[in-house]
Amino acid sequence: MNGTLYIIPTPIGNLGDITRRAAEVMSMVDVIACEDTRTSSVLLRHLGISKPLVSFHQHNEHRKVADLIQRLKNGEQIALISDAGTPGISDPGFLAVRQAHIEGIQVIALPGPSAAITALVGSGLPCDRFAYEGFLPPKKGRKTRMQQIAMEDRTIILFESPHRIKRLLADIVEHCGEGRIVAVARELTKKFEEIVRGSAADVLREFSGRESVKGEIVVIISGNGYTE
Ligand code: SAM
Repeated sequence: MNGTLYIIPTPIGNLGDITRRAAEVMSMVDVIACEDTRTSSVLLRHLGISKPLVSFHQHNEHRKVADLIQRLKNGEQIALISDAGTPGISDPGFLAVRQAHIEGIQVIALPGPSAAITALVGSGLPCDRFAYEGFLPPKKGRKTRMQQIAMEDRTIILFESPHRIKRLLADIVEHCGEGRIVAVARELTKKFEEIVRGSAADVLREFSGRESVKGEIVVIISGNGYTE
């Protein structure tokens, strides 16, 4: 009989955010597929879980899907986790889940932490309709994506690295206008967590005034036409 592929979200900073069920499932499976075995070892040690780990990251994802499917067909129970947050959301996962469905293998996705949803609900911007855009390309295609974002009437979720945040905010001012409301959610669930919210011009001014920006960042942009 085939095993089951479990998709398990892990904390995005605060280890207390692991769910009881996530820990139970990881204790029960035969093997845990993870992006970086060193990163995941820290979490598993914290939880007192000792399991074989196999690496599954964006550079070997295509090749490793076949291995995972074979193991599932041999009856192994497999948990797929990423370094932080929910697998498949700007992280490996989609290819394995798709193939499991194609092969008739049961997939069980657990709910849990995701930086995108945590930032969205903390942004004070409409959560009823939103578009997840992940990371924008740094060069080729960026302008087109920014133009599409400027026209989008749903709330937009973007990931950004700290060293590119000022540039992204400048792009938002240029394409969406100075008055567009944005919320920059930084270091969510961690010690120095903050949400800086206001007009694109004000938020750009705030970050431009900072000598350096560190940590992990989600940017929420209000939809075209939104006012408050
Ligand atoms: N799959 C993950 C999830 O569901 O949260 C996201 C993985 S993506 C490779 C990593 C990006 O998520 C970071 O560059 C940052 O934009 C965002 N991120 C992750 N943890 C965060 C945190 N604690 N606070 C703010 N943003 C975070």
